[in-house]
Amino acid sequence: MDLHLHNTLTRSIERFVPIEEDEVRLYCCGPTVYNYAHIGNLRTYVFEDLLRRVLERAGYRVNHVMNITDVGHLTDDSDDGEDKMIIGARERGMSVWEIAEFFTDAFFRDFDLLNNTRPTVAPRATGHIQEMQDLITTLEAKGYTYQAGGNVYFEIGKFSEYGRLALLDRQQLMAGARIEVDEGKRNPHDFVLWFTNSKFEHQAMQWDSPWGRGYPGWHLECSAMSMKHLGDRIDIHCGGVDHVNVHHTNEIAQSEGATGKKWVNYWLHAEFLIMPSGRMGKSKGNMVTLSTLVDEGYDPLDYRYFLLGAHYRTQLSFAWDALAAARAARKSLIRQLQDAHARTGLSVDDLVGGSARDQLGATARGALDAIDDAFAHDLNAPKALGLLRAMLNDGTVDPADAARVALDADRVFGLRLVDELRRDDELPDDLASLIRERERARRDRDYASADRIRDRLQAAGVRIEDGPDGTVWKRE
Ligand code: AMP
Ligand code: ZN
Repeated sequence: MDLHLHNTLTRSIERFVPIEEDEVRLYCCGPTVYNYAHIGNLRTYVFEDLLRRVLERAGYRVNHVMNITDVGHLTDDSDDGEDKMIIGARERGMSVWEIAEFFTDAFFRDFDLLNNTRPTVAPRATGHIQEMQDLITTLEAKGYTYQAGGNVYFEIGKFSEYGRLALLDRQQLMAGARIEVDEGKRNPHDFVLWFTNSKFEHQAMQWDSPWGRGYPGWHLECSAMSMKHLGDRIDIHCGGVDHVNVHHTNEIAQSEGATGKKWVNYWLHAEFLIMPSGRMGKSKGNMVTLSTLVDEGYDPLDYRYFLLGAHYRTQLSFAWDALAAARAARKSLIRQLQDAHARTGLSVDDLVGGSARDQLGATARGALDAIDDAFAHDLNAPKALGLLRAMLNDGTVDPADAARVALDADRVFGLRLVDELRRDDELPDDLASLIRERERARRDRDYASADRIRDRLQAAGVRIEDGPDGTVWKRE
C-alpha cells in the first residue's frame, strides 16, 4: 500500500517514504492542560489518529510521540498575557501541578472516548527542562542566540532557512514588522528560548538555569522532546494549521539550527473546526467540549463519524443539526452491519478474522480496494466512508463479505463496529432465555405467548425478526 500525503513544506501531495523501511517516527503537538480540550482541538487529534491507523494499515510500526504542555505560560511567548495555569488554579482552588494533572486526565478521557489510539509516549514539558536547557546551550554554542533584558532569544536572522515552512518572505522578515512589542529583540520575529524576567505575577513554575532562574519558551519543548524521543530526524510532524506560521516555523529553526540537518520530512496540518460564531478558542467563550456533546445525548463516536465526513484539509463548520445527521448515519451504518451479520449466521470472530482479500466476491473486493485507495491518498476518510456505505447498500454483495469489509475498514475508521456486533453476541442471560422460551412457544404454535415475549424483548431494546432462515434478533 503506497501512501501519498500532503506535505505543507511543498504544498503538494507526495509519495510517503519513511527514513527507516518499516518504522515511522511521528510527532504530534499535544494539548495544553490548563483547561478542557475543545471539540476543535479534538478534531486535530482524530485526524492524527486517522493518520496513525492508515500508517499501521500500510504495514508500518509507528513510534508516536505527543507532548503534554503542562506549563501554562508556555503557550504564550509574547510579552503580555496572563499565566493561564495560575488563573485556572486560582479559579479551581488547586495548585498549578494539580491543575495540570487534572486536565491531562480529562484530556485522555476524551481521547479514549473518541477511540483514538494512545501515543507510544506522551512526555510532559515539565519533565524535560534539562533537555530544553541543553538545546539552548547547543544553539548558544552555534551562535544562534543572544541575551537581552534577562531573556535568551533565538535570532532568526542567523538561520537562513527561517520561515520556509510558512512561505514567509525573508526580505520582509528581516525588514521587521511594524509593531515592536519587545525592546530587547533584534528582530520582532526573534523568539524567547528562556525567560528569567517573568512577565507574570506569582510565577508558579520556575527552574534554575545557566541564564538565571526562570522558565522555557513555548516552542522549545517540542524540539527538545521530539529529539529526545525520536532522534534528530523524523518522518512526520503534525498539528493544527494555526501552528504553521509561528510555532512550527520556530520549532524548525531550533531543531535544524542545533543539528544542522533537515529535521522533518513531512509536515501534516489539520484544518480548523469552526463555530458559527467564528474560530473556537479556549478563552473565547464559545468553547464546546466532548462533555457538552454527551450532555446533549450524543455518543462520542457520533462526533468521530461527523469528523470522518470531512477531509482533514477542509475547514469544517460545527452545527448541531449536522451532528444529529452524523448520529443518524452512524446508527444506520450499525443497523446495516447488524443485518448483514444476522444474515450470515456466523460468529463475530469468524467475520473479524476475515477471509483473505482474494476470497471476497468481486464487488466486495473492489470496494475494499477502493476504500484502501482513498485512505492511502491523503487520508480521504469521507470518500472511504461513502464507498463503504455504497457497498452496504448494494443488495448483490454477499452479507458475510459485506460485514468483513466493513469490519476491516473500521480498523481505520475507528468506529468500534466490532464492539457493536459483539454487544449483539452477548445477550444477557435473562433475555437469551426469553428468546429460547419464545422459540418453544412458536414450536408449540402458542403465538399469543410468542407475541407477548416479543413485546417484552422489544421493551428491553431487542428486536425479533422471523425470517425464512429462522428467527434473528438485533439490538435497537
Ligand atoms: P492547544 O491545546 O491549544 O495547544 O491545541 C491542541 C491542538 O489543537 C493543536 O494542534 C492546535 O493546532 C489544534 N487546534 C486548536 N484549535 C483548533 C480548532 N478550532 N480546530 C482544529 N484544531 C484546533
Ligand atoms: Zn509543538
